[in-house]
Amino acid sequence: MPSLEDALQESRTAYEEHVRTCRQCHFDMSPCAVSKHLLRAYNNARRAQARPNSAMR
Ligand SMILES: [Zn+2]
Repeated sequence: MPSLEDALQESRTAYEEHVRTCRQCHFDMSPCAVSKHLLRAYNNARRAQARPNSAMR
């Protein structure tokens, strides 16, 4: 079972890597749909780690 910390780390890496490699995100500094999706996943993971009791539904 992956820990919350792993999930957080993974989603953050995915987001950062996307931002680093995505042309659209770079072009006018407005995040593309993928970026928004990854950022939301990262925020969710961060929230889950901050409040472990509400993480699993
Ligand atoms: Zn992008």
